[in-house]
Amino acid sequence: MTTIPLGRCEICLGKGVIQGIFHRMECAGCHGAGLVHKETGEALEPAVMVGQLRQRLGGVAGVIEQQRQQLERQGLAGAAKDYAGQNNKRHRGGGNWTGD
Ligand SMILES: [Zn+2]
Repeated sequence: MTTIPLGRCEICLGKGVIQGIFHRMECAGCHGAGLVHKETGEALEPAVMVGQLRQRLGGVAGVIEQQRQQLERQGLAGAAKDYAGQNNKRHRGGGNWTGD
């Protein structure tokens, strides 16, 4: 799959929604994605956008996994885990993500 360059939708400023008179509405400029084609400024078809985001998500997951393995090799994975655990407690409604 070709990677389409994505940029922030300037109509909704990347939020994907616009504030109507009574309620929020999906941004028509980006079909609610908050992202548009970087060069043309046009909205991508939802199915195409899903593919682009899935591709990027896969890339990010790979980077996280690489860094986790690097920390493990350095014997720091436990420390990183503890830090993440402490950090979560500071946030209201913080999750119980442990990096596993
Ligand atoms: Zn938009």
